[in-house]
Amino acid sequence: MRPLCVRTFWWLLALVCLVVLPVRAAFGATWSLVALSGGLALLLAWHLFSLAQLLDWQDGPLDAPLPRGRGIWEIAFAGLHRRVRLRLGQQRSLSETLDRFMRAFQALPDGVIAFDRNQHIEWINARAEVHFALSALTDRGQALTNLIRQPDFVAYLESGRFDEPLIYRDGRVEGLVLMLQVIPYGDDHRLMVSRDITQIERLETMRRDFIANVSHELKTPLTVVAGFSEMLVDGYEEYSDAEVRHYLSLICEQNGRMQRLIQDLLTLSALESGGGLAGEERIEIEPMLRSLLDEARALSGGKHELTLAVETPSALAGCASELRSAFGNLVGNAVRYTPPGGRIDLVWRVRQGAGEFAVADTGIGIAAQHVPRLTERFYRVDRSRSRETGGTGLGLAIVKHVLTRHQATLEIESEPGKGSRFTARFPASRLLA
Ligand code: ADP
Repeated sequence: MRPLCVRTFWWLLALVCLVVLPVRAAFGATWSLVALSGGLALLLAWHLFSLAQLLDWQDGPLDAPLPRGRGIWEIAFAGLHRRVRLRLGQQRSLSETLDRFMRAFQALPDGVIAFDRNQHIEWINARAEVHFALSALTDRGQALTNLIRQPDFVAYLESGRFDEPLIYRDGRVEGLVLMLQVIPYGDDHRLMVSRDITQIERLETMRRDFIANVSHELKTPLTVVAGFSEMLVDGYEEYSDAEVRHYLSLICEQNGRMQRLIQDLLTLSALESGGGLAGEERIEIEPMLRSLLDEARALSGGKHELTLAVETPSALAGCASELRSAFGNLVGNAVRYTPPGGRIDLVWRVRQGAGEFAVADTGIGIAAQHVPRLTERFYRVDRSRSRETGGTGLGLAIVKHVLTRHQATLEIESEPGKGSRFTARFPASRLLA
């Protein structure tokens, strides 16, 4: 028996001894029975009062303070108090764990949607809201296929076969490409994980286009070389010396074109895979531009008026070979796209702390819609003109790469029929005293 039950027993015995026995001695058995009944009634009233307190408490919130009891009720209330505290603690740690899981799901870079066997949404994380233009607040409980009606998506969900992911295009967010994977779990519930692969898809398309472009660029000169070589092998004697020389010169020209293309491709690949600048050195601007001017004069063959103005003699910190190749491309383009008799001005100056190299020509110019795409690989305004002048379509892509590696920008201003100005702008941090 518990000590307090024993104590209660002794209290009852004491009541009988202290109240009932003296009453019985003084007033007889009837009054002693009345006294005993009165005592028991009081005891019952006390228990009922404590029970009522307990029932009141039970109707209140779980964390309401327990009533204070006495005697056996004190023990009962203390036991209950311990259990309530334990339950509250367990509940708190459970809700903290749940909260942490929810926050982890919210922080995922992937979208997550939990839904039931009827495809009713149970939960959506923030990324999935963006991926599918859904709202966790208003779309919860709705059927996924009512909200997302893209046929491939509906067929995928309804197929019930989720071994392979679904590439989801043309969804509710324009231009977004997602990879979706459905993971069944628990009692016929499902999780759908969505990953944004727009960038990967774009790179893959670029890679495919690049291979197609390179193959195309090589195919034409190779066809010419193969055609003339076969012609000469099969009937060398049939051609005069002058004709043979002409065909051989065409073969050489196409060889040169392929060599330039391979050289530009190697330069681009080195720039793209080389990480940061290999080594930085001090580049004196004036001597470099003078030698570029000489090369441009040789390329022009006296057909253009070429000038150089170095307004502020300066030195740049950077990779001399890369910058020489970038500046050379700009100057070479000016010569190639300026008809004979035109003018080409090379200018170096320092403006508001930034170094600027500008090549201005009075050439054919470029229509505004082409300007933003000029630095894409193989982008040409006029394919045949570029080929005629020995272009590979990679020059400005190389320029852009080199400038980016030097934290510099390329500005292009042009007007068809009037001419163009290409300006490479270097930050003050690249200028050396
Ligand atoms: P390409 O080898 O064809 O010249 P680039 O990448 O150097 O390739 O240039 C891309 C295109 O930009 C050229 O095909 C040409 O159409 C245009 N372009 C470049 N520079 C000039 C210029 N100075 N004047 C007119 N068009 C130019």
